[in-house]
Parts: sequence; C-alpha cells; structure tokens
Amino acid sequence: MVIERFAPSPTGYLHLGHAYSAMTAWRSTKTHSDKFLIRIEDLDSTRSKSQYTQAIFDDLSRLGINWNIPVVYQSERYSVYEDCLSKLIAMGLCFPCKCTRKDIKDSLEAPNAPLISEGQKLLYPGTCRNRSFDEMNKGDAVRLNFSKVIEHFGGLAHFPTLEIRELGQSHTGIHHVSPEYFQANFGDIVLARKDIGTSYHLAVVIDDAFMGITNVTRGEDIFDSTFIHRLLQELLGLPVPTWSHHGLIRDEDGKRLAKRSPSFTLRNLWDQGFTSEEIISMADKQLC
Ligand SMILES: [Zn+2]
Repeated sequence: MVIERFAPSPTGYLHLGHAYSAMTAWRSTKTHSDKFLIRIEDLDSTRSKSQYTQAIFDDLSRLGINWNIPVVYQSERYSVYEDCLSKLIAMGLCFPCKCTRKDIKDSLEAPNAPLISEGQKLLYPGTCRNRSFDEMNKGDAVRLNFSKVIEHFGGLAHFPTLEIRELGQSHTGIHHVSPEYFQANFGDIVLARKDIGTSYHLAVVIDDAFMGITNVTRGEDIFDSTFIHRLLQELLGLPVPTWSHHGLIRDEDGKRLAKRSPSFTLRNLWDQGFTSEEIISMADKQLC
C-alpha cells in the first residue's frame, strides 16, 4: 500500500510547480488501498490565510485530483510537536538558544572566529550549547546538540547507519546520514523556533509518521533536509518512508517559481483560458 501526501503552505495561490508536485504524488497512488493525503502546513499564523487553504482544495479539484480524508492541519497539532520536543529534551539532546540572527552573524564575524572559506555554510557557532533548561527564557529557541546526539549513539564509531532510500531521478539510490556530513552541513539545528514552538523539520517528520506516509514526494530543493529528517526519525523512533524528490519548474529566466510569480499561478492560467489538461501537460513538459 502506498500512502503519499501533498503538503502546501496556505500563504499564496498554488502555481504550476505545486500542480506538478501534487500530480506526481497523486499519480503514484494507483490501487484502491493506496491513499493520497493533504497536509496544510499552516504553522506560520501571520502568513497563512484561510482563503488560500480553500483555494488549495478548489485548485486540486479543478485539476481532477481527489484525496482521502481527513486533511491534516499543522496548526491543530502544536501539542503533539511539543510532546516530541519534550522527549528529545528529556533525552538530554537539546539546549535553549537565546541568539538572534544578528548575534550568530556577529559571532561568526568576530576576529577570533574560525575562518570560513567561501561557499562553506554558516553554521551556528555553539554560543548557548552549555545553557541548561533552567535558564530558558520565554523567547528562546530550542536547538539540537549534535555532539550529544553522537554521545547518545555511543560515539562516532557506533553511529548507526541511517539509510535514505531515494527514488527520485536526480539522486536515485541509497544515501546515508554520516555524522561528519551532518556536523559540517547542519550542526546544531533549530528544533523549535521561538515564535511557533516547533520547526518545519520536526513537524514534518512527526506528521509524516502520524499520517502513515510510505513515500514522500517533494521538490528537490528540499533534498538536503532529508538528512535532518532521517536523523530525527531515528531519535524519535519513527517509521522511515522512501523519498522521491522531483525536479523543479522554472520560469523563462531559469528561476524557480515562487508564489510571487503571479503569472504561473493556476488561477491565472485558468483565467488565460488554459484547460486543466493543458496545465497538467505544461507542468510535465516544463520540468527542468
Ligand atoms: Zn544561542
């Protein structure tokens, strides 16, 4: 049985890229027992609008896509995210971080900061790593202490083989989360932002497990996050799906479509007289 999902944020109208993503996930659910589920990623309450949520349902229907119920709304699941975060905190794998973006940037630019070569990712410098939760203030974020994660697994030599099974074209095959790669590319990631009490990464892995997702279809711009998701699944004891990252649809200038490109919203294409069939074939053809 295949269970796929489409997980848009209701912060604007769906565009051609969303149509492709939803179609791809929906097409891979073929048999009667397969499921195609929708998750509305509306954690950002200032940018999420109910009119866009309704538009998502209307647009998918107009494309001929149907889905199983219930629809999952992230905004109704804060307490679940909080429970999982508490679990990671109780395992001793987190610390409260009071740094602002500016603090982090300043400390990376300080004269005694390690030299950062061009192209190297700017990682959190570990300023608050030794703070305890007794010192936590209301406005603090919660970060994963990656050194503690290594300790948790019994040291580098015992770090588990965390497999990522990727079915998408650009990265087909088996990938592994190596601690060295994680450390160099992600470091002490934010698990809970101060404003929403969770993070995209934490919410996604918890929700995919809750929804029983067997394969995650999404754009290849999120491929890198899979390493974070796989680690969180291991730490939280969650089931591991397969992943299919697909190519992105770009505009004439080669930039990926964003919600701010109104000419590519499905609504605009319908208004211009394109049929749903034409829109679907346009999405299939313009894939880069
Ligand atoms: Zn900090």
